[in-house]
Amino acid sequence: MGIDKYEIVIGCEIHTQLLTATKAFCACENRYGGMPDTRVCPVCLGLPGAMPRVSKGYVELGAVAGQALNCRIARFTKFDRKHYFYPDLAKGYQITQYDIPLCSDGYVDLPFTHFPEEERPGGKKFRPDNFKGENCVIGGSYRRVRVERIHLEEDVGKSLHFEGKHSYIDYNRCGTPLIEIVTKPDISSPDEASLFMQTVQEILRYVRVTKGNLEEGNMRCDANINLNVWENGKLYHTPISEIKNLNSFRSIREACSYEAERQLHEFETDRKEFEPGYKNTMTWDEEKGVTAVMRTKNSFVDYRFVVEPDIKPFSVSESLIEDARKAVGELPEAKRTRFKKEFALSDFDAETLTSTRELAMWFEEAAKNSKSAKRVANLILSELLAVLNEKNQTIDEIKITPLHIAELADALESNKITSKQGKEVFALMLEKNLLPSVIIKEEGFEQVSDANAIEKIVDDVISANPKAVSDFKGGKTNVVGWLMGQVMKQSRGKADPNQASALLNKKLSVL
Ligand SMILES: [Zn+2]
Repeated sequence: MGIDKYEIVIGCEIHTQLLTATKAFCACENRYGGMPDTRVCPVCLGLPGAMPRVSKGYVELGAVAGQALNCRIARFTKFDRKHYFYPDLAKGYQITQYDIPLCSDGYVDLPFTHFPEEERPGGKKFRPDNFKGENCVIGGSYRRVRVERIHLEEDVGKSLHFEGKHSYIDYNRCGTPLIEIVTKPDISSPDEASLFMQTVQEILRYVRVTKGNLEEGNMRCDANINLNVWENGKLYHTPISEIKNLNSFRSIREACSYEAERQLHEFETDRKEFEPGYKNTMTWDEEKGVTAVMRTKNSFVDYRFVVEPDIKPFSVSESLIEDARKAVGELPEAKRTRFKKEFALSDFDAETLTSTRELAMWFEEAAKNSKSAKRVANLILSELLAVLNEKNQTIDEIKITPLHIAELADALESNKITSKQGKEVFALMLEKNLLPSVIIKEEGFEQVSDANAIEKIVDDVISANPKAVSDFKGGKTNVVGWLMGQVMKQSRGKADPNQASALLNKKLSVL
């Protein structure tokens, strides 16, 4: 007797708020926070007789998300009512999409470079297929997670519980436009679930459909998880748990890890097995680090879905779909691959420079205007990002342009200025918002690369320091560094250090 092995099976449902100006079906402003119940109206409160209207941009943004996640977009669709009673849902039903989702049959490819070594091709725990035995490795470099559907639905209000006192409801969030992204159960580890959510966040931010801010609840994940357990050669499935409202990458990872352990233990002790339609709904208690059962339910619970009678079913035009495709543009992974090839960047540099679409565009603009993309990358990575971090700014908020960095990179590359001067130019450039060429001229930073001038300085330094020279001849080669320092000092930092050093070494060796 005993368990031979087990594998984890996870499917995700990610709720993402969209960046429309107004709520999904009314004119209330779509924004986070504020005084409770200050952005509500008869429509989002579901008062009798109020008529919903689909807000401008809602279907469009949903289609952009669908295109970005490689989905098919429905040419005809509709909204439905899902009935259930919950205090944060004032009207007693949610407007959602039931049997004709706007988007379906998509996928997200996760790069193996983000997996632990042992789970990559060739590794000990590498798995080329999903739990159904279907291949999910793409081009040897990616593991594919299939997206079953993306549908449109409205968010509910927020319950606020004050310990030992009362519960309150804030309806500001009620009616916020959401998409729900539902995957196939293709995810096989807690780390992969977390990586999936990070990747989706990055993509949806890139295509500007969401702020993707997890702290503000712009994105929340429900994870469906169970185990395949082999015992004495026989395969068993454990009951599915749905862990609700995971709102950080860490909580997804930790909740799934905990739940997998718990299910394994439960299987060993209680022999509980999967039953079709049965599911545990759970919460994740972040502080205690445990999952807890909220309710157990049959998933065929009757939500009494009906077509939303107040919104006509509608066609999705070819031009809307085409516009959505254009809005997607180049996605982060494709950009990284291209940057590595075009600009000879390392994995890490490409990763950082493409972390937001704005930064990637900024870098590319600078790189195209410079003779050395590598130097541009270094300046951004080592200097500019540090400043942005310190000031808590984004690349859009700084005054200097890509051309500033391109000029600075070229001045350094052509040895017009030393790297030390480069730092000064960089600081002045941020402060005065002047182009490096202007600063270099104003400050008299032009580096001396005139061979005659440098030779004269080297000769002067050698003749002024006979002691150092005799030490050198006596075998103390480390005095070269000191002499080099004297050369740079005499040139007031303007001598091209490479040239000066070569000349100094040459002169000393023939003395
Ligand atoms: Zn409203």
